[in-house]
Amino acid sequence: MTYVCPVCGYNRLHEAPTDHAICPSCGTQFGYDDCTASHEELRDRWVANGARWWSPNTPPPPGWSAFEQLKRAGFVRAAEQLQDKTVEVQLPLGGGLIPSQRQSAAVILQGSWVGANSWSSSGNAQVQVAT
Ligand SMILES: [Zn+2]
Repeated sequence: MTYVCPVCGYNRLHEAPTDHAICPSCGTQFGYDDCTASHEELRDRWVANGARWWSPNTPPPPGWSAFEQLKRAGFVRAAEQLQDKTVEVQLPLGGGLIPSQRQSAAVILQGSWVGANSWSSSGNAQVQVAT
């Protein structure tokens, strides 16, 4: 049984989004963060901060894209806001990396990039830049 995060649309939550479960995608702690803000407000905040994958311990699914995730969940306005912030960059390591290496590259890049979490077929990173 998996659940969908009502904030970011991540659809592989192992626990229902209640009782202090934390979404690895957006970092919302349910029953805590959503006591003081609506799910929509939390979503807007996540997108405004670049919609980065939150969990350092749970890696994103292969090919994870915050944009696709938002769109699939029906959060179209948030997806469009995020799209406005997205640019494609060439990774210094180039294409052809295995997913775990791509993940490492994204971490290294985080000094200068707000986020790097999805990947085009050419091996370039789609990054959400702060505006
Ligand atoms: Zn979430």
